[in-house]
Amino acid sequence: MPEPFQSAVLDTVLAALSKELSVDTSEAYNDPHISSRLKNEHGVHKARLAHGYFAGWACLADTSPQVALPRELAADVLTSLRVYDTILPMGQVTSSTDVGLRMTISRAATYQDSIYHVAPKNLGGKAWRSSDEYLSVQRTWSNTGFEPLSPCVSFGWLGTQRKAIARNDLDDCDAMTLLGAVDFDMDLVESLAPAFVRAIGIANSHIAESGSRMQGAALAALLNYDVQHYVRRIQEDWVRNGRGAANFGPHMISPEDWVAALVADSTSLCAYGYQGAVAYTPSKAGSFVGLLLSNTHDLLYDLATSNLMSSVMYAAAAAVTKDDLHCIFVTSFMDGIARRYSIGAMHVPSNSLFGDNAMFAAGVWAGFSERYRTWERFVKYSRQISRSPSAEARNIEENARHHRILADFSLLDVAGAWRRVTTGTTRGDVLLVPRVTAVYRPAAAPEIAEGPLPEICATCMVQFKDLLNGCGSDEIRGVEGLPGGVVGCRAVARATAIRRAAIFAASGSCGDVCACRIGCWADIVGYRVLTALMATEKTVSNEEWLLQCYAVWTVMTFPVSVATVLSGFDLSCQMFQDEGAMGARDVLDC
Ligand SMILES: [Zn+2]
Ligand SMILES: [Zn+2]
Repeated sequence: MPEPFQSAVLDTVLAALSKELSVDTSEAYNDPHISSRLKNEHGVHKARLAHGYFAGWACLADTSPQVALPRELAADVLTSLRVYDTILPMGQVTSSTDVGLRMTISRAATYQDSIYHVAPKNLGGKAWRSSDEYLSVQRTWSNTGFEPLSPCVSFGWLGTQRKAIARNDLDDCDAMTLLGAVDFDMDLVESLAPAFVRAIGIANSHIAESGSRMQGAALAALLNYDVQHYVRRIQEDWVRNGRGAANFGPHMISPEDWVAALVADSTSLCAYGYQGAVAYTPSKAGSFVGLLLSNTHDLLYDLATSNLMSSVMYAAAAAVTKDDLHCIFVTSFMDGIARRYSIGAMHVPSNSLFGDNAMFAAGVWAGFSERYRTWERFVKYSRQISRSPSAEARNIEENARHHRILADFSLLDVAGAWRRVTTGTTRGDVLLVPRVTAVYRPAAAPEIAEGPLPEICATCMVQFKDLLNGCGSDEIRGVEGLPGGVVGCRAVARATAIRRAAIFAASGSCGDVCACRIGCWADIVGYRVLTALMATEKTVSNEEWLLQCYAVWTVMTFPVSVATVLSGFDLSCQMFQDEGAMGARDVLDC
């Protein structure tokens, strides 16, 4: 059983707000009237939760119009915690039939040269520490008290809200958002303790600013801090018990509750509070899809840590992953939402929705933050898949080069779309159509060849350097109406250079050892894509920056869908891990 939960922040919040609230807040979370109302509304499990601190949070959102915490967000938090409390494992499902695909997570140094081994995920490597380009960009990117931050953390936590918050409010919101880095265990790092204290102080300074955006931001950030502490206890329990990541999907949790649960557990709620109640509902689509996208890259590690909150495993329980519907779902929303910001859009929103921003940034981050070892795994997986005679392997190859989207769905109803995809009763209920895209020509990125290169044979080196230095007739494919400044940006150029190298390494023209080394190299230099986006962010408009992120993501969708290869392999492979390869707390964080 997990440790009992105690909120470290709610009492201060309630004390600060006692004048504004219409109920006696010091008693709010013990109020029998509120408890029984929640019990009626949400059933026994929620009520059990509601008796505690989170009823206090829900009261804040529910009872006082002057308090800027979106009510639907607080309700989704309760749903999320109920899901965490009640979700059950379906059992360890390392593939029952051996289809010849296998992967061992290992810390041994020799793992690098083996297509059957991969290292654990990490917080973004070390290459950035000696990059003048990154360090100078980082100096002007954030001022949170947590610096220096790796590109993985800078971009993953702060890039996701970059265009959703007014510049004047950014420093405070960034610091408060990093309170969510409890999910990365950053609160357990001694040297970061002052930064956490400072961030809580910033939040406390805003909580009595009634009805303001910063009050919403502060309350949501502190609520998020509580949520991440609450769920960490449960995640640690899952790791200890090791009962697998397979969940019962829609057979146990409704698609609507699942979407709410994932959004509230996104680890970053501050910007929801900042943007307020009206923006919250349309923001959920991007937020959910961004998390699903991360899940498609993260499945191997979710399997290793028995993380039950994986949307890919939810789709697997609904038996739709064989048709790649989890990836098709992502592509449908990425393209659809990108059209909101592209040339010719009816009306480009002046403030980007936080969910949209988070989704596009997640698309970049999942591929280039090094955390998931996306390219190393892509290369190693592709080589195993092409050698496997199994039907499963052919199916993955076929899905990865078959570009489709959902025929009929609404960008405003992500839960409805998730329901259609995961609860259709027969195959074919979900109508798919070909993905319609325009062809764009990226620029070359010779600078990516300037750093340390992989140790590979002379023959491979010649081809490898050619691929990095020139872009030939390379192309990306995305929605129509991407501006020239988007297609021609450095980040897209670097991302396509990395892809050219990785596709070469995945092919038969390269031997296993050279291929593995190119794959590892691709992840190590990936942060230069994030760096380029961080560098341009100040100089381009909201919509242009979101589209730059989108365009980088499209690099991973064509000619081959990287997410399909990664998740398809992980769903069919036999997964092993060396003793202690994944610590009890490298875990579960997306
Ligand atoms: Zn070679
Ligand atoms: Zn994850």
